Amino acid sequence: MVEIPFNRPTLIGKEITYLRDAIRRGQLSGDGYFTSRCNMLITELTGAQKVLLTHSCTAALEMAAILCDLAPGDEVIMPSFTFVSTANAVTLRGATPVFVDIDPDTLNIDPMRVADAITPRTRAIFAVHYAGFPADMDALAKIARAYDCLLVEDAAQALGASYKGRPCGSLGDLAAFSFHETKNVISGEGGALTINRPELNERAEIIREKGTNRSKFFRGQVDKYTWVDIGSSFLPGELIASYLCAQLEMAEMIKIRRLSIFERYMEAFAPLEQAQRVRLPRWSEHSTGNGHMFYLLLRDGADRDAFIAHMRAAGIGTPFHYVPLHSAPAGRRYGRTSGTLSITDRISETLVRLPMFFELGSQAEDVIDRAHAYFDPAGVTAQ
Ligand SMILES: *Cc1c(COP(=O)(O)O)cnc(C)c1O
Repeated sequence: MVEIPFNRPTLIGKEITYLRDAIRRGQLSGDGYFTSRCNMLITELTGAQKVLLTHSCTAALEMAAILCDLAPGDEVIMPSFTFVSTANAVTLRGATPVFVDIDPDTLNIDPMRVADAITPRTRAIFAVHYAGFPADMDALAKIARAYDCLLVEDAAQALGASYKGRPCGSLGDLAAFSFHETKNVISGEGGALTINRPELNERAEIIREKGTNRSKFFRGQVDKYTWVDIGSSFLPGELIASYLCAQLEMAEMIKIRRLSIFERYMEAFAPLEQAQRVRLPRWSEHSTGNGHMFYLLLRDGADRDAFIAHMRAAGIGTPFHYVPLHSAPAGRRYGRTSGTLSITDRISETLVRLPMFFELGSQAEDVIDRAHAYFDPAGVTAQ
């Protein structure tokens, strides 16, 4: 029996060496040598104007929500088809997440639905780059500008992906990245906020440092540091940063490896899509993905659940994904919906993810063979 997990966190390069180095350097709290190296590498990878390392994407989203100056009664438009952190960040400010439907092809927020959901209370649009394929950022930026809203990228899955040749992280006013162990580049838990509006830089540093001007103090710009604004502890320690640094150095190689697995899956399942048995990932001509995720869309919920059971019986992990936030208990309590969410409901019921990680290698063939045995027991379309 082949045992293939959905994800396996992997040592890629110099993680252990850098961890030792961080300990030897004697600073374990945040914003030391490795944090600044990570900031430099993330700046290169995203083309963002400013980068602040955080302890998670959740933290970066919470910082973004504070920087949007959200208050009770304010609204933030976002997809319902996302992780809870996108909405929690808004709810924690007392503001209201407004859930809209996704595009049935890209599974990203549909700009037309966003335009329909705008009210005088809309303060921001939170766009998720699902599966590492960028949302339609030009259309969203146009709406954000027209209604004086901030545009925030939930780029948790999108490090190294790009839109019209511009990397994720440089597209919105703010962007949040994740280095959770299920993402492409990891440090167990970890994240970053990127900022493309220089007037937000100083406040972002303060929010991240417990509401103090500590960063300015360390740059010698003030002679003592003190409490100047709201904030929390959003920064990771140097042990996390050192591990992350080793991974960020290999980000391009990680992406290339994952894209080759993605392409192999695309090729292997193409005959099943031609036979209209499954639907494969789709993306716009403007998007370049990063091999974060490979998913299949099955006929209905029963088909999808039977597929997962078939794969599990062979020890292969193929999880489904988001329970739509608009139907979750807290989503109903704290959010509201705009328009119908029938695409979100259907995608959520029919989507399944296949194993995707750096070391998967030839085990991808075992995943493909086992999956084909489900769709086509007679082996007609196998290749
Ligand atoms: C993973 C993920 C998050 C949360 O990231 P953490 O680093 O675990 O906080 C948020 N949004 C999306 C879309 C994600 O995929």
